[in-house]
Amino acid sequence: METESILIQNLCVPCACRCRYCLLSWDGKPVGVTWERSVRFAERFKERVKEERLSLKVDFSFGYSMEHPDLRDALRTLKELGSPQAEYLQCDGMRMRDEKECKELMEMLSSEGIGQLNFTFYGLEKYHDGFAGRKGEFSNILRMMKAASEEGLGVSAGIALTSESADQIDELIDILNKTADLSRIFLFIPHEEGRGESIANIRFTKEDEKKLSEEAFGLLNKGIFTTEAEWIRNGFFEETKRTLILSLRADNIEKYEGMDPFDIIKETEDLDDAYYGSFPSIAELAKKYGDPDGKRYFRQRDLFSHYRKLYAAEHGVSVYDVTDERQSGSRRY
Ligand code: SF4
Repeated sequence: METESILIQNLCVPCACRCRYCLLSWDGKPVGVTWERSVRFAERFKERVKEERLSLKVDFSFGYSMEHPDLRDALRTLKELGSPQAEYLQCDGMRMRDEKECKELMEMLSSEGIGQLNFTFYGLEKYHDGFAGRKGEFSNILRMMKAASEEGLGVSAGIALTSESADQIDELIDILNKTADLSRIFLFIPHEEGRGESIANIRFTKEDEKKLSEEAFGLLNKGIFTTEAEWIRNGFFEETKRTLILSLRADNIEKYEGMDPFDIIKETEDLDDAYYGSFPSIAELAKKYGDPDGKRYFRQRDLFSHYRKLYAAEHGVSVYDVTDERQSGSRRY
């Protein structure tokens, strides 16, 4: 397993939403550390890694939302640190802005060289606001999208496809296309990680395909998302690489500050090895738990996670969860 990159993250900026499927299980209490402390840590970490392993990529990012109290300064810091987040912003859960404030925000982002903004939609207005746990979120992100487009920024929209949202997709796409000049619009099947477990019962299925037009359904990448039956029939790809996530928190920052970055990397790699070593491979799990006629759509990563949960429950596996992205861990691919 090759460690290809390190993501240092600071979950210090609150989000105004409470999405039903939040990967980070955002509940109103940030788990991160102060901004300045995290930047100092990232600078030192990057510098040290550069001295020894030039090929290892180190990125820095913040969450939960992009509503940093000094966003301009934060973007400049991200740029100095070479972070991709300085070019591609996820704009959900930000504060309510009227048209004038949206315009001002987009002018600032444009002057700071932001290339792309992405917005996530869950369905039409009433449904979206309910899913996001915030009244007015739908119209707020539409206003931002429109302002971004008028400012000449690249704008993309991702739409969560579930059995509940499927019959809203065509109308939603129409609204989005009328609002902004979109560089990309795509559908995705939501994960079941974090709070996503609560929406397992609305996973999109083959039967739901008739709820949307063929053209709209064409916006789902079938190479990434397909039915459980197809995964089992066609086989799984092997995961050979990983990104380590170092989540800076009150309960680890002091320890991390006192460690050599390569010891932190080794410690996190060991956690990743221990976690995946506690489970059989996805192919073995599919033989035991898979449904060869399964009509539900999954990404491989989500199907593997789904099977691991079943295995952990049956075998009483209790191991540090490297897939819980509130804490340090990893993403394999
Ligand atoms: S906008 Fe993102 S961080 Fe905020 S609650 Fe939704 S999924 Fe979580």
